[in-house]
Amino acid sequence: MLLGRDVRKDFPILNVKVNGKPLVYLDSAASSQKPNAVLESYCRFCEQRYSNVHRGIHTLGEAATGDYEAARGSIAEFIQAPALEGVIFTRGTPESINLVAHSYGKKFVKHGQSIVLTPMEHHANLVPWQLVAKFVGAELRFIPMKSDGTLDLAEARKLIDKTTAMVAVTHASNVLGTINPVGEIVELAHKVGAKAVIDGAQAVPHMPVNLREMNPDFYSFSGHKMLGPTGIGVLYGRPEILNDMDPFLTGGEMIREVYLDHATWNDLPYKFEAGTPAIAEAIGLHAAVRYLQEIGMERIAQMDHYLTTHALEKLASEPDIALYGPLSQRGAVTSFNVKGIHPHDLAALLDREGIAIRAGHHCCQPLMRWLDVQATARASFYLYNTADDVAALIEGVRTARKVLA
Ligand code: PMP
Repeated sequence: MLLGRDVRKDFPILNVKVNGKPLVYLDSAASSQKPNAVLESYCRFCEQRYSNVHRGIHTLGEAATGDYEAARGSIAEFIQAPALEGVIFTRGTPESINLVAHSYGKKFVKHGQSIVLTPMEHHANLVPWQLVAKFVGAELRFIPMKSDGTLDLAEARKLIDKTTAMVAVTHASNVLGTINPVGEIVELAHKVGAKAVIDGAQAVPHMPVNLREMNPDFYSFSGHKMLGPTGIGVLYGRPEILNDMDPFLTGGEMIREVYLDHATWNDLPYKFEAGTPAIAEAIGLHAAVRYLQEIGMERIAQMDHYLTTHALEKLASEPDIALYGPLSQRGAVTSFNVKGIHPHDLAALLDREGIAIRAGHHCCQPLMRWLDVQATARASFYLYNTADDVAALIEGVRTARKVLA
């Protein structure tokens, strides 16, 4: 598997020394590094074509609008979105899900109905639904997990019933790595007339995603986890549902006509893109998508699988390490704890060696309670990681044990 080594030259930050040591970056689940192709595309746009979009009659305004809309088209194709006008640019996954919760949830989820989630949701796909439930008087239900951190689908079939208005599930867990059978879950939701929103923040960067096959009502992801800039993400929504929803944010661009006492709304997707959007960021995300497509998402998924399996095997062969999540069907994260060492101390010690991992609750506090831990350490992988990075992690854990245990 040569992918990691082949592409490392494209990521300038991988040449940076951290605390005098070569950087070993194992925190891509929090945010990924950026290849030259993305940095150059962002800069080129700002240097040569920058202007606001959808407004100016001037040449640069048209160039920028063309580039921004080309980004939308390319992203729509990348996720096999059934309709281009359903692809809405947002600031990222949390804004996408908040949009659905406020504009769909508060309007269409009714008192006494249920919203079905899982205990492995990131706070971004949990807290908005808590607010909706409180606002309308709906019940929150949680699909139980089996001891290996996979969902109990037999229980899901019972929980998702005639009362269910919304099913909100993550495609891939940012802690356990679990890849959920989202196609099946969407089907369960649709069978009872409920809508399904899928949090794809940890899936779109790592595997082929085909929304035509999955058929969700809403799907969200963040650009910065898939080699793109920060401040840009996507919500895909089914156009017929988006048309029935009220706007989330208001301002320029999302209106058609404004009177002193009322206003009417622009067509999709602009109805949900209030104000000047993140233009250069969308263009940077387009470059990221092109880069990922050139390598191939199947290949990236295979490389992730290889590295994660390798890391799990190596960690499992060390003494006194607790590993979390299933053994198969998992994404590119490994969460673990070393007995007697707080994950924050482990992360701080690894940092001295130039190794960046994440430690904490990973914005999944209910899941930490389910695991019965305060926090975990998490090493996450992406296409620029290699087996050498795993070796550095293992060496770092051994050193930490000598120093801290
Ligand atoms: N959902 C999941 C599953 C995530 O892993 C994350 C980020 N850790 C988010 C949502 C939030 O996305 P962002 O980092 O863009 O705020």
